[in-house]
Amino acid sequence: MSEKTLGLYLHIPFCVRKCAYCDFLSFPAAQETMAAYTEGLIREIRAYGEWYGGRPVDTVYFGGGTPSLLPPDLLAKIWAALFGAFRIIPGAEVTAEVNPGTLPEGAASFAEAIPVTRVSIGLQSDDPELMEMLGRIHRFPAFLSIYEEFGRLGITDRNVDLMFGLPGQTLAGIEKTLRHVLELSPSHVSAYSLMVEEGTPIAKRIAEGGLVLPPEDTERAMYHRLTEMLAEAGLRRYEISNFALPGRESRHNLRYWRREEYLGLGLGAASFADGIRYTNPRDLREYLACADDPGTLRRDIEKIGRKEAMEEMMFLGLRTAEGVSDNAFREAFGCGIVDIYGSLPQRLVKDGLMSCENGRYVLTDRGIDISNTVLASFLLDRVPA
Ligand code: SF4
Repeated sequence: MSEKTLGLYLHIPFCVRKCAYCDFLSFPAAQETMAAYTEGLIREIRAYGEWYGGRPVDTVYFGGGTPSLLPPDLLAKIWAALFGAFRIIPGAEVTAEVNPGTLPEGAASFAEAIPVTRVSIGLQSDDPELMEMLGRIHRFPAFLSIYEEFGRLGITDRNVDLMFGLPGQTLAGIEKTLRHVLELSPSHVSAYSLMVEEGTPIAKRIAEGGLVLPPEDTERAMYHRLTEMLAEAGLRRYEISNFALPGRESRHNLRYWRREEYLGLGLGAASFADGIRYTNPRDLREYLACADDPGTLRRDIEKIGRKEAMEEMMFLGLRTAEGVSDNAFREAFGCGIVDIYGSLPQRLVKDGLMSCENGRYVLTDRGIDISNTVLASFLLDRVPA
């Protein structure tokens, strides 16, 4: 029997400054803080290596924050610790999120410090006014320059992050951005609708009427047009917000939706392993104080029982184009989807929100448009008896 693989996520919480819409765990920091954090992260890596070092690791993901803000000597130390503590197998996918306007010593030094096979570049938009409104530090030319630089280094698995549904953005505007991006033939595009998070500067401006979100049907039209243009360029939607050329999907992100195990290392990082989900402390001092002791580091420990596992399989699996098959459900739980969810799947099929072919359920375009509602209906407490 093949060994169960593991994914590693490393959180690098630093950013040049906070974007106007951001509620991720990220903040500006001085060099000394970055150095102290790196030491803490290395202690955590070594501690978890003692627990999980024997498992083959086939995906590593540096996320943030802005991993590309960390100086290459610190990144190299992190990679050396990872490589020493875990069994990272040949051919592992190693992704790093990269923001234009960072990379203190250039893309080559970055790629020398961590052997990235894939970069995810946060473009968001090519429109300078929208970028100003979002509080992003870069503009399109800076994106283009690092996109091309990584290409010259042979890193052709390049994701471009985009946003839509922004105040002031139009359908024609998103089409123009996509044309611009597709000229570069990216292997992967992630496109997220703006989530207005309470307490962010953008939420305040919207509440005060200084910014106006596009109407919901325009926001949906943007998503449909974007899906269509990406499909024409050969980038297939494999998850609600993720599009890739065949075979160029993010293996690490697929791990989340397929409920495969991963360790989240670093401030506030989330993990799923040995049937539990938990997160690390979100407070830097607290994190650094217990980084080398997984016993005291874990917060919000949730045991994933049979009921939670069923729910997760449905609402994570249905986010993907592969959907959820009745066979896989039976294999995992010894009963079929309808044995648990009764008439719900058939009702959703009848309402045109899901399709079902050979026992495999997949969200339709209409289902994706109201995916939050459809996915929430698979929470078992909500399923009518
Ligand atoms: S770069 Fe990303 S993580 Fe950092 S503040 Fe902006 S949106 Fe947040």
